[in-house]
Amino acid sequence: MAYDNDNIFAKILRGEIPNTTVYEDEAVLAFNDIAPKTPVHVLVIPKRPYIDMDDFSANGSPEEIGHFFIKVGEIARSLGLHDGGYRVVTNNGENAGQIVPHFHVHIMGGQRIKEGSM
Ligand code: 5GP
Repeated sequence: MAYDNDNIFAKILRGEIPNTTVYEDEAVLAFNDIAPKTPVHVLVIPKRPYIDMDDFSANGSPEEIGHFFIKVGEIARSLGLHDGGYRVVTNNGENAGQIVPHFHVHIMGGQRIKEGSM
């Protein structure tokens, strides 16, 4: 499957759709989820076009993958989530219910998440 340049996160990266940016650097963008499932619900994406976790882990460089996950942790701490705990999730493909085909990690926190609720 080829990367779809018209997916919503590609449009966000091109500035065609607005977003509420939480963090940005040369390789990573983090922004609030448009339909938050928890009081804090942030999506973290690489700027390069990876479809999903499978694509990112297979084709990203170790530096890129390392930088990305270091930033996921830093962003969660910067949001004050460390003390209470938080969830990091990525949906990979159809069986997981992935909707947007640009790799993204959900950071969810700010409340206790019931097992099996998301
Ligand atoms: P997935 O199921 O693919 O892991 O999750 C995609 C997420 O993207 C969902 O939580 C959904 O609310 C979020 N989302 C979809 N469209 C937009 C959008 O246009 N802007 C933002 N900020 N989030 C979006």
